[in-house]
Parts: sequence; C-alpha cells; structure tokens
Amino acid sequence: MIAKVIVDVPSRQTDRPFDYEVPESMSGWLEVGSRVGVPFGGRVLQGFVIGIADSASVDRTRLKMVAELLDPVPPLLPDMIELSQWMSEKYCCSWTQALQAMIPAALKGKEERQIALGDEDAADQLPSEIAEWIRGAGGLVKLEALIARYPEHLRTVKHALRSGALAQQSSIKDRLSVKKVLTVFLPDAAPTLEQALEQVPARAAKQRDALMMMYERAEATPLQELAQQSGASSASIKALADKELLVIREVERDRDPYKDRDFARTRPLPLMDGQREVFSRIIEAMAEEQGRTMLLHGVTGSGKTEVYLQSIQYCLDQEKQAIVLVPEISLTPQMVERFKGRFGDAVAVLHSRLSSGERFDEWRKIRSKKAQVAIGARSAIFAPFERIGLIIIDEEHESSYKQEESPKYHARDVAVRRAKQHGAAVVLGSATPSLESFAAASRSAAQAAAGGPSALLPMPERVGGRPMPEVEVVDMREELRAGNRSMFSRKLHSALLERLERGEQSVLLLNRRGYSTFVMCRSCGHTATCPHCDISLTFHQKSRVLRCHYCGHAEGAPATCPSCESEHIRYFGTGTQRVEEELAKLYPGIRVIRMDVDTTSEKHAHERLLKRFGDREADVLLGTQMVAKGLDFPYVTLVGVIAADTSLHLPDFRAAEKTFQLLTQVAGRAGRHELEGEVVIQTYTPEHYAIETARHHDYAAFVAEELRHRSMMGYPPYCRLVLVTMSHEQLPLLASVGEQFAGELRELARHEGLLVPLTSGMPRAVEVLGPVASPIARMKDRYRFQCVIKYRGSIDASALVRRALRPFTEGPQQKGILFSVDVDPQVIL
Ligand code: ADP
Ligand code: ZN
Ligand code: ZN
Repeated sequence: MIAKVIVDVPSRQTDRPFDYEVPESMSGWLEVGSRVGVPFGGRVLQGFVIGIADSASVDRTRLKMVAELLDPVPPLLPDMIELSQWMSEKYCCSWTQALQAMIPAALKGKEERQIALGDEDAADQLPSEIAEWIRGAGGLVKLEALIARYPEHLRTVKHALRSGALAQQSSIKDRLSVKKVLTVFLPDAAPTLEQALEQVPARAAKQRDALMMMYERAEATPLQELAQQSGASSASIKALADKELLVIREVERDRDPYKDRDFARTRPLPLMDGQREVFSRIIEAMAEEQGRTMLLHGVTGSGKTEVYLQSIQYCLDQEKQAIVLVPEISLTPQMVERFKGRFGDAVAVLHSRLSSGERFDEWRKIRSKKAQVAIGARSAIFAPFERIGLIIIDEEHESSYKQEESPKYHARDVAVRRAKQHGAAVVLGSATPSLESFAAASRSAAQAAAGGPSALLPMPERVGGRPMPEVEVVDMREELRAGNRSMFSRKLHSALLERLERGEQSVLLLNRRGYSTFVMCRSCGHTATCPHCDISLTFHQKSRVLRCHYCGHAEGAPATCPSCESEHIRYFGTGTQRVEEELAKLYPGIRVIRMDVDTTSEKHAHERLLKRFGDREADVLLGTQMVAKGLDFPYVTLVGVIAADTSLHLPDFRAAEKTFQLLTQVAGRAGRHELEGEVVIQTYTPEHYAIETARHHDYAAFVAEELRHRSMMGYPPYCRLVLVTMSHEQLPLLASVGEQFAGELRELARHEGLLVPLTSGMPRAVEVLGPVASPIARMKDRYRFQCVIKYRGSIDASALVRRALRPFTEGPQQKGILFSVDVDPQVIL
C-alpha cells in the first residue's frame, strides 16, 4: 500500500504529494485524511494522506516508510481533502496551508527530537547512571533534559551521539497542552478585611484595592484579571501573597466554557407569515440536495434567527448536520444561548477566544458525531461533519469572514463549495447584504421570472409589526456655526439627558475606522511615524509608549517635538477614551461601560461587559464597531453615532457600503422590544447617499446608488479582483521585477485573447493595473508594490496568476521578492 502525502513544508517546490510505503501494521488504520509523520530531508515532518494507491509513481525500492500514524481517527474527511485542493488553486496558496487551515491548532504537530539508547554494545560505553536514567524514563528523553541533568558528561554525550551509543529519534508532538493560569485565592483561615488591611501600609493604595477586591468577591480570580481591575501590579499582589494575606496557585484552565451554564430549553415559535414563506423555501432547497445558495435579506428584528433554528431542526430530523457561521464578535453568550436552548448538547461552539484545548474538545464532539450543529466564526466552515444538510452564514456581509493571512479564503465561498459537495443548502442572512451577494441573488431572481428558482428570500417586516426606529441626522457643521464645539450635538445631548432621567439605556458608537490614536506637534504638524514602515505610530496611554501596529517597533513618547523641539506636542488617546471623559464631565455620576480593543483584550471580557450592561449596571454602552452587532437589550431606547463619516472617506471602494451597513446595524439596536427607539446620527456630510439612505432604512435605494458608482468605477460586483502584493528591501529591484511580472500577466492574458478593457462590453475581459506602490509603501523595512487584476466573465484568474508567478517563485529569476496573492480582496492596502 502506498500513501500519497502532502508534507508540511511551506515551499512551492515541495507543494505536491510524495509517495510513502505504508507499513503492514498501519494498513488497516491509514485512510485518506489521516495525519502522519513521514521522513523528509533527514527529519520527521507532519503530513496528510491525500490518496492511497497500490503502486508508486517512482521506483518502489527507493520509497521511504510512513513513520507514524498520528491519530486513530483521521482528522479530515475525503471531501475535505478535495476542498483543500480547490482552496490551494483558487487562493493561490500551498496545499499544506489549506490543509492546516482545516484542523484545530492543537493538531498542528511539531517535530520533537528525543534521545534513546543505541545498540547494546555501544551503550556500555556510557556512564551507567545515564543509561539507567534513560531506561527509567521509559527509554526516551529530551536532549536538553539529559544535558541539564548531567552537565559534567557533556563531552561523553556528544561522543555517544556520534558513535551510535545514543540515537536521536524524531516524532511529531501535538501542541495540545493544558493551560495553567496563576490564580489568586483568599487563604483558608483568612483574617477579617480590617485585620488584613492593618498589615498593608496606607500608602500602598493599589495593594489595598486589590485586597479589598478579593474580599468583596470572595472567589478565586486569575492574577492577571485582579491586577488589571485593581490597578495593582502583579508584583505587589505577589507581595500580598508573601505576607500570607492572599494565596497564589497555578490552576488548570476550565475546559468547557459553557459547562456550568444552564440553558433553559426553548420551543419553536409559531412562525409569522413572512417567516413561514422563507422557511418553506429553505426546506425545499434542503430536500432538493442540489447545493443551492439563498440570500435571506431580512431587516433587523425580522426574526431571522427563529427561521435558522427551525431550518436546523428540519435538517437534524433528516439526520444531517448543520453549520452556523456568525461573526466572532456576535458569538456572545446571548447568541449561543439561543442555539443551546433549542438543541442542547447537540451544539458545539467554536471560537477563537477558546484555548486550543477547549477548541479541540468542541472539535472532537463534531468529529465523533456527539454534536450535530456547529456554531462558530469563520473557520467553523471546516467542521468535520460527514453529511451536511444546511450551512447558515449570519451577517454574511461581515468582512471578518475573509481570512487576511494565507490561505486568504472567504468562508462564504468555501461554504458554497462545500455545500455543492454535500448537496446542502446555504442560507446567507443579512439586513444589509454585501453587494456581491445581492447582485448574485438578483440575477437568480431574474431567472425565477423565467420559471427557475429564486435565491432571494426577503423579510422586510419586523416581528409583531414593530416600527423601525426613527433616525435623526444632525449636521455637525450647523452645530459649529451655532457655537457648539462639543462632540455632542444639542440633539444627542438632550436625548441622553432624557434617557438618564427616565432610567433607560443608551448605546453610543464611535466609528473607529480611520480614527486612530496618534501624536502630533501643534507647532509644526510633525507626526510620529515608524522608522521601518510608512505608517503613524499609535500612542498607548497606559504605558506611554508609541508603537507600530505592523512591525511592533516601540519607543517612549517624547515630551518635546523631535522635529522642532516645541513643547506643544499632543497625544490623542483612543477616541472612545475621549468620549468617556467628555461624558463624565457633562453628566456627573453617569455610569459608562466602554467597549473597545483596550477593554476587551482579556478572555470573556466582552461577554462580561455585555452582561453588566444587560443587568442595567450602566446607563451608556460606549464603543466601537463591537457595539453594533447583534445586541438585544430591552431598555435600550437611544442609539447615538458620534461621527458617522470617519469611515466614509477612506481610500476603499467599499467605504460607502461599510458605512451604510454599520449605521443600519447600530440603528437596529434601538427599540427592539416594547419601548420605542430613537437614533441620532452625527455627521459632517448629511447629504451623502450612504447616510441619507441609512436614515430611511432604505437598502434598495442605497444599493441602486452604490451599484451606479461601482459600475462607473469598474469595481465588484461588475468585475472581480485579484490583488498581488510584492515586497523587497531594494526599491529598484522591486520596481523592475514588478514590471516584469505585470508584463508576464498581460502577455498570458493577451495570448488567450482576454486582454480587453472592461469598458469594452466584451463578456470575458482581463485588465492588469500597476505595478504601483502599495498604499502602505513600506512595511518592516521592505518596499511594497502591487498589481490589481480586474476581470469579468468565467475566467480562472487564479490560474492566470499562478502561471505568471511561476518564473518568479521557482525559476532562476527568483530574487528574494516575496509575493502575496489576495483573491477577492476585502481591502486593497
Ligand atoms: P433578527 O435575527 O432578524 O434580527 P430575531 O430572530 O432576533 O431577529 O427576532 C427578533 C425578535 O422577535 C426576537 O425577540 C424573537 O424572539 C422574536 N420572534 C421571532 N420570531 C417570532 C415569532 N414567530 N413569534 C414571536 N416572536 C418572534
Ligand atoms: Zn514640531
Ligand atoms: Zn513599523
């Protein structure tokens, strides 16, 4: 038996299957999809079996043997192997990268080298204590451990390795390790708080805070968390432990994040007319088993989730499995509860805030068929189910479904492909569908007029006929003219006051895109930029450090301007911090929960903040994009958008679409229950169509206008894009290779008669733009150039790019230029 194995070496020359002989002992176990360890270039590397054959393509006597079979049950299924090959072609990544993207991190095994005793005679040359120790340790030890234990025998050990008295053995070791966390406890016989405080000097205020916090909670708290929340350093908390006022121990991190939670079981609701219509179309598509994709366009609060739940129930009744993708940020306990409440333990939850062990546990529930529903972020699309009946992608327009590092796949496109393999139905749900999905569904609606099935499922009404909230747009230029220099308009100010008086809650959104934290000299206009990248440094208030988000470069914040030595240098903190300060000034005693990257970096912080808001422990939830997604709180009656246009003027052809989506989403947070909602949008460009249409909840009008722009400018959905970025330390070399590469592309396209301007109206056309300097022209000391390939019609643009790249990545022309290919890029940076 011969196994065809993709070995985990990320180089293009080795990106093909290699043949290995399967030892007799493994033959009953090894399958397509198995993970193996194989000898490769003198090492043992991890690989995946992508095929099994009776005969080898090379001389059999030269074949090496599979060294290890790593899992008793193959982690991948044969259809996933096929999917990975498709991914590597479509996204121009290596086959290995595509395979790696499909398995949990815990299974990304690494080579581990260990030492064993060599042949009998030779072993006699070793000091007997070493031989004994190795035998006692089960025959295999790590080299470092051996040297650390017997430093005096270093030379002997070296010699023994050369003579064969000691032998090196390689194997693959999984990264699965139990995560331990330093955790703070109160001692068993704790004194009273007063007694304890007597032992801490009054000037150690932070230490006293930490101590009080522990007494108040009376429960074990991770050291990190206590430090963050009390403001005390870990060192000063350890000092408390030295005085035996607290105890610090390592504790294994809890594995099932939902283990202790009880989910009240819910029953299906009788569907409203609109829901019933859509539901029946979805189950029709499931029954057809043609792998159909549908777009569920339902306004916020139209009851999409209930439709998902009942469709999943139907899917389970057919003894098939379902995958539900939701954006990472929407994967809140509220969301999980709705699914666990309906399907209980049949639900496995996969998201990136889980430790790799927790993720692995959830993944195993899927692989072992204990779970039939997988809900998770992007990578949950690779849930190893055998019979998928339904794939739901909620908020399908979200950019987080696109992975930004290689393989740069889009979960939506992978879903469509996987659904075809399984004959499953795909439901894309959104209140503000992406233009690509909307255009595709509309095309099929045109077919429907001709008798075919339509892929557009509209739900234009809110459940129970609740009105969409009133949206008021405030022109901030008017405010300035009227002498109001505050970041709050008079309208938003009075609306906030009203909510405070009535004891209702408000959500405030600060659009963070393009709203960075930076340093600027007010005398000469100097801004601090990274010495290695063409990008401003970001100011971190807590540590007073300037940091580059691309390369990690950090420097202390200067007190005077490095350019003109003026003292008028100003640090702009995060936008949300500034708003928070302003709120505290304007409304003394106001309770604000701030939600941004700073306050949610810790595990479960996001959920904890939301829970507090849900428990009405705050009047205002203030945050970035995070607050716009999926929240559902009955007492929220006001939504304010502080600055709607910050994302509107970015050099991104999706800027208007993103702004419209964000405004619509956040407006949908208000008045979802009995109390009516009000929305105030502050802007400097109230006349912009993205704002004007969001104000009237008018998706159709927005799309019509936006499509007009896209068609004029030649952007998706009127064409598709591939972005190729190349980088090198030397600018002249980069520029010349860039030209050669673009020339190669054009030549290939011309040869096939495709090099036609998109404006020509020809059904199949390719245009190559560039090379030009990338918007971020230098990163980590490497210059960056880019080419954009625009194309229309059934053209395999990926194949074109792969062919054009070949001479530059494997041939003699290869000159250390790094190429990165982004198919259907979300951003052209
Ligand atoms: P969406 O996901 O479209 O924003 P949801 O599914 O969250 O909307 O539904 C909005 C609200 O309406 C929820 O509180 C939900 O429980 C309720 N709801 C949905 N469908 C029904 C129904 N058929 N009957 C009664 N209430 C419903
Ligand atoms: Zn200056
Ligand atoms: Zn940098």
